[in-house]
Amino acid sequence: MSDNNDEKSFPGTLIDPDTCEHHHHTSHHQRHPHSHHAPALVELHIHLDGSFRHSTLFELAEKKGITLPNGMKATIEDFIPYVSVQSTCQSLAEFLEKFPFFLNIVAGDVEALERVAYEFVEDQAIQGVLYTEARYSPQVLMGNTLTPEQVIVAINRGFKRGIKEFHVDIRTLLCCIRPHPEWSMEVVDLANKYRSAGVVGIDLAGSEHNCSYSPHAAAFERAVKLGIHRTVHAGETGSADSVLQAIQQCHAERIGHGYAIVDDPAIYEIVHSRDIHLECCLTSSLHTNAVGKYMPTDIEKYEEHFMLHGHKTKTTLHMHAKSKKEVWHPIHHFARDHINFSLSCDDPSVSQITIEHEYEHALTDLKLSPAQLSQCVFNAARSSFLPENEKNQLIDRLLANYLPKQVVQHLYIKNHDIHSIRIILATFDHPSIFRLRDTWRIFRIQKPKFYTALKYLWNVLSQENNWEDYHLWLEQKFITDCLNKKQPMLLFIGYLLSKMIIDHYHYYTISSHSKTSTLSRVHMTLIDYIKSSPKNYQ
Ligand SMILES: [Zn+2]
Repeated sequence: MSDNNDEKSFPGTLIDPDTCEHHHHTSHHQRHPHSHHAPALVELHIHLDGSFRHSTLFELAEKKGITLPNGMKATIEDFIPYVSVQSTCQSLAEFLEKFPFFLNIVAGDVEALERVAYEFVEDQAIQGVLYTEARYSPQVLMGNTLTPEQVIVAINRGFKRGIKEFHVDIRTLLCCIRPHPEWSMEVVDLANKYRSAGVVGIDLAGSEHNCSYSPHAAAFERAVKLGIHRTVHAGETGSADSVLQAIQQCHAERIGHGYAIVDDPAIYEIVHSRDIHLECCLTSSLHTNAVGKYMPTDIEKYEEHFMLHGHKTKTTLHMHAKSKKEVWHPIHHFARDHINFSLSCDDPSVSQITIEHEYEHALTDLKLSPAQLSQCVFNAARSSFLPENEKNQLIDRLLANYLPKQVVQHLYIKNHDIHSIRIILATFDHPSIFRLRDTWRIFRIQKPKFYTALKYLWNVLSQENNWEDYHLWLEQKFITDCLNKKQPMLLFIGYLLSKMIIDHYHYYTISSHSKTSTLSRVHMTLIDYIKSSPKNYQ
């Protein structure tokens, strides 16, 4: 806490825990108007080309005279099954089959690329995502008319416009494609060139089967030398050994999916001990059948219908509630063993899902706890490819959203013990404690809720200006308690009496010159409170 210079701007300050959520959503973070109740999320594994709105694709296809593969002219309802998978989808090959048709609608079209990038930012904002790393292959999107560079410039224009309008932070990962090793070196050069335009890393995407890592190794080696971050799709439908190769040959700092590590304890331990981040995508892993082999036979499937981009869609989930087995999905192991993993959509438009839906799925079907889910969000933030200072800012924004209301209330209100808390905080003031910068940094990352609670108390109990923050907090707390007809805490009384004496002094000195009342809000509220509940004071 001592290593933070803008202590006073920390959003916990001066906000009563009873009302802090309201304050955070209205004043501290400008967000999209639809997202007031959305959670604050971070999404690391999402393909831009798997996120195009169905309505946009349909509109562009009509304009360009592109007909359905069966030659029919279509309504949007006929069109959707050609751009997204059905609940029966059971392999990565079947999943990837959808891409060529809709890529053809957008690829090589500068205006369309800018538009889908802009809409992507809006869609993330609507879902409460604060930070996203969007990935795409510039070569796949260039069509027959553009250069990879023109693709990046067009998409960046859309991102920039969206970021400005929707207050979401978006960075880019450029994808190398497994069957096209001849593109990989160019991808690294482009990532290097567009670093200042938001490109933070590279990826290796495509099916792991019948594709080796060695043709891409030199490009990834060069990325390491240039300081470009690396994530690799591995252990999705491939083996645990594929994850090991991604780490060894491509110097992967993060792994896309990585489920297969549960098959090999040695590789599991490598990922665990090196704190390599796994970008898990739940519904995608069901559609590609990446986790089918782990699924108990007593799992019941159901289809869920919901709205996506204004259209009713359905997706298949796998109901866990009735299974006797509590640990089966790879993320059950990851959560239990504190593996560094997070949740993402992968290709939301193809899977017909949203990131909120993925968290919902983890909570209700896979029975992850809310604490494990918020840990996912912080795992994603600390494993993002942002520069260190921006990463810390993101973590601070998230902490503000996950303010541990219960912890603060417990310490302050249930215990009524402000003096013990002051003594505890005084120990942090000791130089031998507060100069432990690394310890505080690790503490902040590993125990975000507790850290925020401490920081909140620390700010409120700051001795600056004769405990001014503390006085204001007490005042707010008192007013809230009175308005809620709760008994105010006894420790307020001395403060309130002194405040009343000062108020009266001001009232009599000033009111002799003018008729304006200067009674404070506390004074007025106290009078109302006493009037309305005489038995408390008589
Ligand atoms: Zn992916």
